[in-house]
Amino acid sequence: MNRMPVIFTGHGSPMNAIGDNKARRGWSELVKQISKPKVIIAISAHWTTDSLYIRRSEDNPKIDDMYGFPQELYDLKYEPKGSIEYADRAIELLDDLVEVNNQWGIDHGVWAILNTMYPEADVPVVMLSTNIEGDATYQYEVGKRLKQLRDEGAMILCSGNVVHNLRMVAWGSEEGYPWAIEFDQEVKEAILERDFESVINFKEIANYEKAIPSGEHFCPLLVALGCVNEDDNVTVFNEYCELGSMSMTSYLFK
Ligand code: ZN
Repeated sequence: MNRMPVIFTGHGSPMNAIGDNKARRGWSELVKQISKPKVIIAISAHWTTDSLYIRRSEDNPKIDDMYGFPQELYDLKYEPKGSIEYADRAIELLDDLVEVNNQWGIDHGVWAILNTMYPEADVPVVMLSTNIEGDATYQYEVGKRLKQLRDEGAMILCSGNVVHNLRMVAWGSEEGYPWAIEFDQEVKEAILERDFESVINFKEIANYEKAIPSGEHFCPLLVALGCVNEDDNVTVFNEYCELGSMSMTSYLFK
């Protein structure tokens, strides 16, 4: 079986799920570069928990975890099947790190992207939470344990944002603040140089307090890096900042 990719993608505003926008154009191009997976293991910054949870179910109810957006987003249907088979396999690999929890479904961190990549919702999804209690090394370890699934037909989709500061959002801006762009670039350079240690030690990068005031949108990147194999090629896509304090920069490893 072909090895499936691991992807870290910025999701940004839920509005990226619909209409014509830069993020969607990037996701449409992305899907052309990968073969269709048997299943997607999705790690969402929006299922933020104080322990690591996995959904083990044959379904994925859509969770509209956003407020004050146009009705079209709430009316959008995106409910792919789950996979007990792959959930069990992930549980086996994650071992003592994970617990089953079926209280959550597929949130906008995931459906906003998959609605563009697989609009028919015909690829099963296994949802995994972001354990905000874990440090950077822990997140990387979660990825290392999941990595094997790539050789078993599973694409790993980690959804967050490298730079994500809601308190400093400049609504309507299509650019990033200079500090946001700089932080984003530092992380990109480290990833391209395979210097994952520097990403794990992100607190040493200038302006990290502004870029990552809370860790939940950054954690999925660390999980993704843990899933990378030495011989993977990396492609950067959707490389831009918007809303001042948000980076959409995304990475495909395959
Ligand atoms: Zn988000």
